[in-house]
Amino acid sequence: MGDVAVSDGRVVAADRRTRARREIDVAGLAVAPGFVDAHAHSDLVPLMAEPQPFKLLQGVTTEINGNCGFSYAPDASALEELTGESVPDWTFAEYLEAVAAAGPTNHVATLVGHSTLRGAVAGFAETLREGDLDRMCDLAAAALAAGACGLSSGLIYPPGSYAGIDELVALAEVAHGYGVPYTTHMRDEGAGLAAALDEAVAIARRARVRLQVSHCKVAGRRNHGQAGMLLGKLRAARAAGVDARGDQYPYLAGATMLAALLPPSALAGGRVRDVLAAQPGGPGCAAWPSPAGRARGCGRTAPRKAC
Ligand SMILES: [Zn+2]
Repeated sequence: MGDVAVSDGRVVAADRRTRARREIDVAGLAVAPGFVDAHAHSDLVPLMAEPQPFKLLQGVTTEINGNCGFSYAPDASALEELTGESVPDWTFAEYLEAVAAAGPTNHVATLVGHSTLRGAVAGFAETLREGDLDRMCDLAAAALAAGACGLSSGLIYPPGSYAGIDELVALAEVAHGYGVPYTTHMRDEGAGLAAALDEAVAIARRARVRLQVSHCKVAGRRNHGQAGMLLGKLRAARAAGVDARGDQYPYLAGATMLAALLPPSALAGGRVRDVLAAQPGGPGCAAWPSPAGRARGCGRTAPRKAC
């Protein structure tokens, strides 16, 4: 209980003698600084036609976008197959400029996504050609130089799921060069959680980057009870010198793309629509329309929950 003031943009202690230009009596209420949402997918929200203050109204003043391996720059055209989002073939710098020009309702920072980089260079090919990884690293470096706040991966989603650990270490080493973290939607959040955690920590250790495990969870009823193991592995990693942390969203349900439920081999070569269309009685391509109601240069239609 006490008084606080906002001075030079910071929350500071105040006493009753402090006079301010504007005073607000919040007796009986709570005062909090703005919250940081460490795991958001609001990448295209600032580009929607109308201001979208839905996070701000919940107290979130800063969002981290570009999670789970998916950023909408550079060149996210290959991901349209998966996300249904059509965006310009822009550089990361141009994407950031578009967001800034649109005037987001809160602060945003954006990770560059591994799946985006892989899609830009090799589409949905399972195996990279000679030189592809170097090109991915060059694109990552350009994005980080432009202001990307880290590297994300989403290893249950194609094409990111086709990557082996050495590819991820190479890209995380680029992040190390810029002093930014590696965040990951791990390869498995269910029965294979322990091995997926070990892989995430190994990548961070080898590349000497800070690790952020996205939406820490134990998925699947059969795996319940493993949360202690998850937290224990993060604790052990920190004790061993890897700055490993995690985040979680405050609701029970998750949301993801249908493609994440299909075997990776079914998606190789970018055949998502073909695979779905071939299902007897399945939804076919009609279930994957380009979003209607394009907004300021992008196809964003609705904000997406954490996946
Ligand atoms: Zn995710």
